[in-house]
Amino acid sequence: MTKLLIAIAALALAACATAPDPQSPKVKITPLGSHDGEFCPLDRAIVFEDPDGTRILYDAGRTVRGPNDPRLGKIDAILLSHVHGDHLGDLIQPSANAGTCPKPDFSVNVTPNSNMVNISLGKQAPMIVGGEMGSFLSAKVSSLGGDPGKLVRLVRYGAQTMVGKVMVAGVPAVHSNGLPAAFLPPEQAKLYAGGLTAYVGEPGGFVLRFSNGLTVYLSGDTGITAEQDLLVRGYYKANLVVMNIGGFPFTTGPDEAAYVVNSLVRPAAVIASHANEPATVGGKLSPTSRTAAFQKAAKMPVHVPLSGKTMEFDGSGRCTAGC
Ligand SMILES: [Zn+2]
Repeated sequence: MTKLLIAIAALALAACATAPDPQSPKVKITPLGSHDGEFCPLDRAIVFEDPDGTRILYDAGRTVRGPNDPRLGKIDAILLSHVHGDHLGDLIQPSANAGTCPKPDFSVNVTPNSNMVNISLGKQAPMIVGGEMGSFLSAKVSSLGGDPGKLVRLVRYGAQTMVGKVMVAGVPAVHSNGLPAAFLPPEQAKLYAGGLTAYVGEPGGFVLRFSNGLTVYLSGDTGITAEQDLLVRGYYKANLVVMNIGGFPFTTGPDEAAYVVNSLVRPAAVIASHANEPATVGGKLSPTSRTAAFQKAAKMPVHVPLSGKTMEFDGSGRCTAGC
């Protein structure tokens, strides 16, 4: 009888160890794409909310409709991986859901300021950047009447900073980071005719560690890199990955991205990102999409970032709601 009771107690303990605890604090993750409920070609922006209420925006790009986009709410910091137009934000939509998911309407030009800088000024929230992007953005913020000491925070590889209870670290991305001339004032833009771009240092990715333990790797735009193994898994032990799967000619595609998550970072779950395709129709993943190919190739759950749909993650990287 005692043995039986011990066995039952052991089973109950084992169940407790694996079942999600409904009371544990969750991180809320909300993609802000071009079309509600879909995953569209230029979708990059995501808002992360710590259980302490800290809200962090990652790569506003073209799909956040400026600082007054009602989906933003309170924003405490803005992460910028690199300065290409689809991340820094050269164009935005005139209204919610403008155009179609396969062909969003990005007819509002926000250069030379950029969408990120406009949001930083509007929300009075710091942009967190690596490389040489800090000095460029500081000059731009100053020229628009903002305080660069408050609105620009440099975090190069190996460094980390805190936003509320969230640790933000800069990690390498293997990509390019030429500043398009459209973001420069006209007298400087003239210097970059003929396809040349201005140097603003290396592109980057980030690791975020939330107060519930969730540790998220944001790949930025990148190829396969040894740091995904040595640093992102080895040191930071990321348990959730937001992975660029866009493929040819810019970054890792579904096969390369699956190698990154299966063999290098090995998280509990993944959120696909930067697919450069209309991945969903009516909120359902197209079976012939590269997002579906990535989902099939990855060994862990791959969640599709539907715009406006909030997913919740516990500290172990497990999605507990909204996936
Ligand atoms: Zn990109």
